[in-house]
Amino acid sequence: MSAGVSTTFDDKHSEASTLTNPTLVLNCGSSSIKYALISEDEGTRITGLAENLGLDTARIKHTTLNGEKLEIAIAGGRHELALQKILELLEQYHFIAVGHRVVHGGREYSEAVRVDAHVLAEVKRLKVLAPLHNPANALGIEAVQAIYPDIPQVVVFDTAFHQTMPPVAFRYPLPKALYSEHKIRRYGFHGTSHAYVSERASHITSATGPHGWLTAHLGNGCSATAVYDGKSLDTSMGLTPLEGLMMGTRSGDVDPSLHIHLKRQLGMSLEEIDKMLNSESGLLGISGLSNDLRTIEQAANEGHEDAKLAIEMFCYRVGKYLASLSCALPDFTGIVFTGGIGENSVTTRTRILEVMRHFGIKVDADKNAGLVGGNEGSFHADDSSIELWVVPTDEECRIAQETRAALGLK
Ligand code: ADP
Repeated sequence: MSAGVSTTFDDKHSEASTLTNPTLVLNCGSSSIKYALISEDEGTRITGLAENLGLDTARIKHTTLNGEKLEIAIAGGRHELALQKILELLEQYHFIAVGHRVVHGGREYSEAVRVDAHVLAEVKRLKVLAPLHNPANALGIEAVQAIYPDIPQVVVFDTAFHQTMPPVAFRYPLPKALYSEHKIRRYGFHGTSHAYVSERASHITSATGPHGWLTAHLGNGCSATAVYDGKSLDTSMGLTPLEGLMMGTRSGDVDPSLHIHLKRQLGMSLEEIDKMLNSESGLLGISGLSNDLRTIEQAANEGHEDAKLAIEMFCYRVGKYLASLSCALPDFTGIVFTGGIGENSVTTRTRILEVMRHFGIKVDADKNAGLVGGNEGSFHADDSSIELWVVPTDEECRIAQETRAALGLK
């Protein structure tokens, strides 16, 4: 244990009691691990992030209960070592369960499940559908198992919430055997976020239910979902998280013939095309500057033409998608914005709604301007056809809730 860590352990002993029966939430990615320790009443949490895994610059950024920030270097950058350090940092709080965000649950899982040998094998097997993510998720489960074999673990699948989609929404118009024999279908992602914000919106609105929401999760990854009466009816992401909206570095929808065209005309390999569509496109590809909307907004304000186009395209594509997803809803209560962009960019929200100009949506500009930096609230004018909400997402909280529920804890 590093010296930096041990000094803060002494300071925090008195705080341990305030985190009652906490659940540890782990989100193990290919180069990062996000974690949160959340008390039973969800009022208290410790959070952190291990980043740059696999590189010499790997480190854990940990925020203690009293807000103190620590940085711990991970020699060699190994995933297992980072997880060990994270568990060391948190063991004094006696977590009672661990909930893992797992990207792909295929069509087998429509809810969170307790980990056993079969479930772990399934998470690994489903790497055919999520080659970058599921193996890292499985590693996290095994690391916890090795150190705390008696602590129950639960997997919460990013795809599970969308398992309520009807075939008309989840099938691709492709030969049937691709679906029945090879599971080629639309799965959808960001499920915990869409579930969390739609449930929250239904809780805080005064509209009588059942409610029909379009939830727009706009972060680095972006997706939109039609949620009616708590169920996902359609969503923008598909077999993989590449389908749908334009994102930070992902293209979203392109002509399916693009691959063959680029292969024939430019001699690009499938791997090169895949990398280009996932890592070099979207806001980054169009602006030529960054995948970070703040950087692009600043450049656009200074007259950068490609930055202006990137923002216009982003908003146009989100608005167009929301309009089409509204067809899935029997009743349209409102739109819920979330994610780093949805929660913070007042102008992006305004522009997206301008794209939907035939819907009779009216924005209260003052309320919209006040919804930044983690504020929750509505911003529709009194005479708007539908409601407009900003609900900061809390995927960790949702994963902790689902973990406790799967284990029969309160
Ligand atoms: P992730 O999908 O990685 O969790 P986030 O939800 O944190 O990402 O969203 C990241 C995006 O949010 C970035 O494009 C960032 O520029 C944007 N963002 C964050 N804060 C603001 C802000 N104040 N104004 C505009 N965009 C913002």
